[in-house]
Amino acid sequence: MNASSPSSKGDQDAFDVERIRGDFPLLARTVHGKPLIYLDSANTSQKPAAVIDSVDRFYRHTNANVARAVHALGEEATSAYEATRDKLARFINAPSRDEVIFTSGTTQAINLVAYSYALPRLQPGDTILVTQMEHHANIVPWQLVCERSGATLKVAPINEAGELIVDPFVELLTPDVKLAAVTHVSNVLGTINPISALSRECRKRGIPLLVDGSQAAPHLRIDVRALGCDFYALTGHKLFGPTGTGMLWAKREHLNAMPPFFGGGEMIREVKFEGTTFADIPHKFEAGTPNIAGFVGLGAALDYVNGIGLEKLAGHEQALLSHATESMSNVPGLRIIGEAVEKVPVISFLIEGAHAHDLATLLDHEGVAVRSGHHCAHPLMQFYGVAATLRASLAFYNTHEEIDAFLAALERVRKLLA
Ligand code: PMP
Repeated sequence: MNASSPSSKGDQDAFDVERIRGDFPLLARTVHGKPLIYLDSANTSQKPAAVIDSVDRFYRHTNANVARAVHALGEEATSAYEATRDKLARFINAPSRDEVIFTSGTTQAINLVAYSYALPRLQPGDTILVTQMEHHANIVPWQLVCERSGATLKVAPINEAGELIVDPFVELLTPDVKLAAVTHVSNVLGTINPISALSRECRKRGIPLLVDGSQAAPHLRIDVRALGCDFYALTGHKLFGPTGTGMLWAKREHLNAMPPFFGGGEMIREVKFEGTTFADIPHKFEAGTPNIAGFVGLGAALDYVNGIGLEKLAGHEQALLSHATESMSNVPGLRIIGEAVEKVPVISFLIEGAHAHDLATLLDHEGVAVRSGHHCAHPLMQFYGVAATLRASLAFYNTHEEIDAFLAALERVRKLLA
């Protein structure tokens, strides 16, 4: 699709991206004297004023610790904080708000499952199944619990296009597999994985499935019941909320069977020196004072996204993805890494003869923010035989004009390095 084609214009008219951009104060700034073109949303998203204001308002008017005080501020803070649990439960269609555990992000959520669910169940000879396209956050915690238990990792392959194919995955689902851990969407390739099909196969064999939803939540409607997985992790800062917020959702039966991970205040029922009894879920897993204002902000982010409508956002993003992919395919020497049929607007690429970091630095001087590097996915880089890629990752606040400006900047810097 071309920027000037009627369909892309129609998409922008329907969506009113300029009005949306007005909600994101940071997008109005310049970088190195050029208008900012922010193409690094898979790294962290920008925040709408509604989120920034809600955090500001919390500290100005409501600030108190949660669940520790009967005074008015304590009650207001607790209800503002706990409201986000309801919003998250609705956002992922969880059967119960109690199954939503607040974490600092996906990394903490996966570690919680690794140490509290997997480690006590693992023995020598057991395996954890991951895929070739995982982020380090969905590899390293499993390696750590494997080292402690004598279990090992198995890796499901992907094809050259960067797709996880169901059949080879299923072949690896042998009785030694005690848990499968798969990303919903690849942070490097943009690939959307067929989670429902994978979870059906896991369920048939009684193998629990953890899904890393970090990169899916900003783009797709998440329905943990329809997905049929056992664990779903996501991170708030990629979902237009504050950093230091995230969630683990898990089936109640798993959460009830898991011992606490962190011990401390707020997660107990009664503490005696002879022994401690623990609070019910979700609080059993939430020791200490949490990121209260952050979760209030995350609630505002969910309201914001719901207010626009995920389907509407996704329609605009898919139009941006087609436009960017087609334009980039015409750039001499440019190779896109990740050509899955089902993708979110994340485009990794290389330019022949130019180093990714050099290109990213020159693009920065043009006002264009893209990420360069291994994207916390060393094994995926090894699969493609590259040390690093450039990655342009888009969000619903990006425009077709920005894609054209990015391509023009790329052409200038490409010539400089040629
Ligand atoms: N998984 C994926 C696919 C990611 O993209 C990221 C963030 N880059 C993470 C996990 C880790 O998220 P966080 O750092 O917010 O815990």
